[in-house]
Amino acid sequence: PLVLGLESSCDDTAAALVDAAGTIHSSLVAGQNDDHAPYGGVVPEIAARAHSDRLTPLVGQALAEAGVGLADLDAVAATAGPGLIGGVMVGLVTGKALAYAAGKPLIAVNHLEGHALSPRLSEPSLDFPYLLLLVSGGHTQLLRVEGPGSYKRLATTIDDAAGEAFDKSAKILGLGYPGGPAIETLAREGDDGAVALPRPLAGSSEPHFSFAGLKSAVLRAANATPPPDPADLAASFQRAAADCLVDRSRKALDASPGVTAFVVAGGVAANQTIRSALTGLASEFDLPLVAPPLALCTDNAAMIAWAGIERFPAGEFDGLDVPARARWPLDPDGEAVRGAGA
Ligand code: ATP
Ligand code: FE
Repeated sequence: PLVLGLESSCDDTAAALVDAAGTIHSSLVAGQNDDHAPYGGVVPEIAARAHSDRLTPLVGQALAEAGVGLADLDAVAATAGPGLIGGVMVGLVTGKALAYAAGKPLIAVNHLEGHALSPRLSEPSLDFPYLLLLVSGGHTQLLRVEGPGSYKRLATTIDDAAGEAFDKSAKILGLGYPGGPAIETLAREGDDGAVALPRPLAGSSEPHFSFAGLKSAVLRAANATPPPDPADLAASFQRAAADCLVDRSRKALDASPGVTAFVVAGGVAANQTIRSALTGLASEFDLPLVAPPLALCTDNAAMIAWAGIERFPAGEFDGLDVPARARWPLDPDGEAVRGAGA
């Protein structure tokens, strides 16, 4: 099937056309960094308006680039949550209108499932079950992925997400939003052993993540006299974050016999230091590390279209009354830990 994917759950407006062979016929992402930069973070109301202005023209552009029309589609897949509700509503209602107008089925996609299945778009040989480190702006989870719609959550964060720690640390360092790429660039000039920072929960018997204490330690270090070199602080923070992700993932891999691969997805998976640390960890378990190319790690609509393709054979279509959801955990049994994580 040929599926149109729509994404608008945070601050990227995106439309893409993907087929069942994994060919991406077009994938367009309109970011909003300039809209939100003055505020140092995403402003939900501004994001919703920007999605509303940009999504429909972007769909036209994606169809034109792929050289197809609505009649050529087999389904429309739109993110239905979790995320900033105004933006999710823009994308979902656009998807409903297009599906209705084209007379094609609608697939309401969980944004996290988009991230979770994206590695199978870039790596068709990746089989279930795999252990997934989902590491993004709003989530840091370890999931055993058994198939589309079948996720067992082994760990989540008890406070901040890893991407949030990157964004907050970047703010402390006076770097722009989004913080992840800015920290990675600055860290290249720094010494990652120069500033002593904690590795929250490392070695702990509980499975979860924690990043709030690391961010607070970055704030304390930045305010010390004399202050550390910013590049040293960025590099030391990035190393500490990578160490935490490796330590917690090792614990989950120990508890996950029979997986085919260790997989990382989500925006923070774009980080090269983290990717190479995770490659080392996977090899400890004789597993391949599967990580999508950078453009599929950060938010995009190709992964949403792909999630639609994964769901297509089972005929799991949604009615035009399907709701937009601000919260939508992938594993309904693995409810929030101490109130954190979706
Ligand atoms: P979620 O998917 O949890 O709803 P989101 O969609 O906002 O959240 P993504 O777009 O998947 O998150 O990822 C964005 C996050 O990834 C931001 O926190 C950003 O700082 C981080 N990020 C992006 N590139 C890098 C990088 N090179 N190094 C570290 N972090 C990065
Ligand atoms: Fe995302």
